[in-house]
Parts: sequence; C-alpha cells; structure tokens
Amino acid sequence: MKNDCIFCAIAAGEIPSFKVYEDDLVVAYLDINPFTKGHTLVIPKAHSQGLLETPDETLAAIIVRVKKVAAHLKAALPCDGFNILQNNGEAAGQTVHHVHFHIVPRYGQEPIVFENHAGNMDELKALAARIRL
Ligand code: AMP
Ligand code: ZN
Repeated sequence: MKNDCIFCAIAAGEIPSFKVYEDDLVVAYLDINPFTKGHTLVIPKAHSQGLLETPDETLAAIIVRVKKVAAHLKAALPCDGFNILQNNGEAAGQTVHHVHFHIVPRYGQEPIVFENHAGNMDELKALAARIRL
C-alpha cells in the first residue's frame, strides 16, 4: 500500500467508495465523476503506477475481472456496449497514479464522449447497491 494513494486507501477500505465487486486481487467501484451511468473502475489491490509497472500475472488476472464486471454491468444496468479505457501518464490523462481500468457503459445512439460529469452521491449509492455482484 502506498501512503498517499487514494486508490490504495479505497482498496484498504480506509475511504468510502461505491463498490460493485471485490475479491482477493481486485476491487471495482463506481467512478465518482462518471462519463456515463455505471462508469466503473477496476483496480488491483496491490499498488502499481500504470500498465508498464504492473506484473504480467497481475494484468492477466485483472483483465479477466474486467471482463466479469463488464459482462455483469451489461446485463444489470443494462447497457448496449462499453468502452475499456486505461490511461498511462499525465500526457494520456492519468490523474490517479494507481493502475486502473475504466469500464464506460454505452447506451443506444448517445454520442461517444470521454468526459467526467459531477456525480450525484445519492444516485451513485443507489446504483452501486442495485448492480453489486
Ligand atoms: P484517470 O484519468 O484515468 O486517472 O481516471 C481517474 C478517475 O478516477 C477519474 O475518472 C475520476 O473521476 C476517478 N476518481 C478519482 N477519485 C475517485 C474516488 N475517490 N472514487 C471513485 N472514483 C474516483
Ligand atoms: Zn495505490
């Protein structure tokens, strides 16, 4: 665990999050400033900065969890499709330096935009309770 890392603190349960899935290796929770409804982040519990710093075995295990959570979101929301996004470095828009995979649900003909929106905490809480695996 890295001391000043907000996602390590979420993984350790030290700060609140809207969790939708957790196992020994990963935790998945709603993004507090979602691109779209159901925008979820999947992180390894062990800290690493980005894709290149993460061990292959961890990455292999994470992508299987990303698939599991995405399949669940598709059915539970439901959504029509989803993007997987993974940013590395500030030049790529990485703002939290603990490796994470975004699952961005997509609905019908809505335009495909990657942009944070102010999250409503009550709505996020209710949504997490509804879609938790
Ligand atoms: P990135 O730009 O790939 O580093 O994405 C970081 C994401 O983490 C952004 O979409 C933020 O809205 C999200 N985020 C930051 N802090 C939290 C938090 N405490 N709980 C949930 N999501 C967060
Ligand atoms: Zn961390």
